[in-house]
Amino acid sequence: MIPEEFVAEVTQRLDIADVVGAYVNLRKQGRNLIGLCPFHNEKTPSFSVSQEKQIFYCFGCHKGGNALKFLMAIEGLTFPEAVEKAAAMVGLEVPQEQISPQENAAMQRRKRYFKLMAEAAAWYQQCLWQRGAAAKAYLQGRELNAELAKSFQLGYADGWDGSVRYLLNKGYELTEIEEAGLASTGGKNGFFDKFHHRLIFPIIDYRGQVVAFGGRIIGDGQPKYLNSPETKYFHKSQNLYGLFQAAPSIRRSDEAVLMEGYMDVLTAHQFGVDNAVASLGTAFNEEHAKLLKRYTTKVLLVYDGDSAGMNAADKAIDILHNNGFAVRLLTLPDDLDPDDFLKRFGKPVWDKLVQEQAADFWQYRLNKSLRAHDTTVVTGKVAVMQELRPYLNSCEDAVELESVIALLSKAIGVAPETIYSELRPKRPVQVLQKKILRPQAGKMPSQNAGQAAPIDRKQANLLLFMLYDKDIFEKTLAELGENFVESPPLQELLGLVQNIKSKYNWQPASLFSYLNEGAAYQLLLRMVQVDLSNSDLPGLAAGCINAIKIERLQQQVESKRRQLTEQTSLGADNTVVLLQEIADLEKQIRTLRSVS
Ligand SMILES: [Zn+2]
Repeated sequence: MIPEEFVAEVTQRLDIADVVGAYVNLRKQGRNLIGLCPFHNEKTPSFSVSQEKQIFYCFGCHKGGNALKFLMAIEGLTFPEAVEKAAAMVGLEVPQEQISPQENAAMQRRKRYFKLMAEAAAWYQQCLWQRGAAAKAYLQGRELNAELAKSFQLGYADGWDGSVRYLLNKGYELTEIEEAGLASTGGKNGFFDKFHHRLIFPIIDYRGQVVAFGGRIIGDGQPKYLNSPETKYFHKSQNLYGLFQAAPSIRRSDEAVLMEGYMDVLTAHQFGVDNAVASLGTAFNEEHAKLLKRYTTKVLLVYDGDSAGMNAADKAIDILHNNGFAVRLLTLPDDLDPDDFLKRFGKPVWDKLVQEQAADFWQYRLNKSLRAHDTTVVTGKVAVMQELRPYLNSCEDAVELESVIALLSKAIGVAPETIYSELRPKRPVQVLQKKILRPQAGKMPSQNAGQAAPIDRKQANLLLFMLYDKDIFEKTLAELGENFVESPPLQELLGLVQNIKSKYNWQPASLFSYLNEGAAYQLLLRMVQVDLSNSDLPGLAAGCINAIKIERLQQQVESKRRQLTEQTSLGADNTVVLLQEIADLEKQIRTLRSVS
């Protein structure tokens, strides 16, 4: 286990806006920062970050927590891994000896994998520049210069097994090299480099680590392109070729250019289209969209002009549109791919073409449908309407919808009202969301349906005040006792603070680090939404304590009254005592009421 003091120290130094800001485009809105949620698909931001409270929360998918929980969720890290990453961000180092043997082993394996990949990449690079005449000639033929080749760490796998022998000498096991997808068994030495005689394109993840390789055969041979297999640490759908190199430019220009091939990306970067990326020999998918969304919400698609390219573009444009991207599609003339086009015409012509020809999502969808059908006849109009209806139905923006319908109306000669009448009526989703967005001070946001035990609002509120203030915490326990909360999630939160009290910084956000995402986690997430700035916490707490005391006294009064009714019907003679006790209790209640 990582010592709690260390976790507390890291949490203290970390600013959630920096952590989340590395993955999500955030902008200021009121006291919070908002952006598009990286955990679910959306077009209007419902993801918010509060620097004051050091929490993130999504009003759409209800994910939330502190900076460490964010790192765990977005990178799929374990808690110790998230702490390690966060520690590095603030310049601290995890005291190693405190980590459990299993956690340590997993961490070491991960480190070793990336070290192995880095060493292999270095070996391939050395081969290219020292003995890779054939590969260098190939690069020259493709008009790629050395500077670019170096910045993409291109390499060459010469010989049958040079890289494998090199890695074995470096102390890696053959099984490790095989598992990393670099070696196969066979050949005269019992093993060989899977990428032998290939130009090597290291696949670098967004953190800058070589995570896998792509290889293009030099000369003849099959397959022309070979990719590393998926491993525990490499998933095609979670990486985009060129992203690490393109990231600064994507952020700067607030747009990514999505292409199909490695060569397209390399040529694009060489020609100054340095925000270009490509998926890795696999169709662009949802995961890719989420990855890109960390950097921008605008994408220019430039796929090959042939029919396979156009089909792939047609799917990608929908995925991007559905994930809230403003997407444009550029069709290159004469079935050229970006690589050919840039070499033949250069960047100025490219820029001009993008500016004049790139079609936005609706232009693309309308044009495609209109080209496919004869809209001078009724069946053609109906077919166009049928094709576009799902897209129109999913359009949430009223202005956007009206503009598109106006265009469509003109194109097929059908009145806008008629087109509207063909669509599904809109539900007032937005209005509902806004109501939940701003919890009133002192009020708990409504509970999720399906939550088991009911949670007493007074108790929850009081506990919340306690979480912010040590004095309130101590005073409440002194006045109401240690067991004043009834529902299990409240008890768990109270128990947690009692356990870690000496290290607790009285910032509820830090408590997320100690909780798994169960009922107590969810409750805390709702509790910390409450806006308590400028609130008189001691005053509010005293009010709650008073109210809870009054409630307890009233329960006693009721129980005495029940006893009294029973005793009276039995003709017992202790009724006077009971009456006196009730009077005393009621007097206490009056006293409490007068001070609150
Ligand atoms: Zn969400």
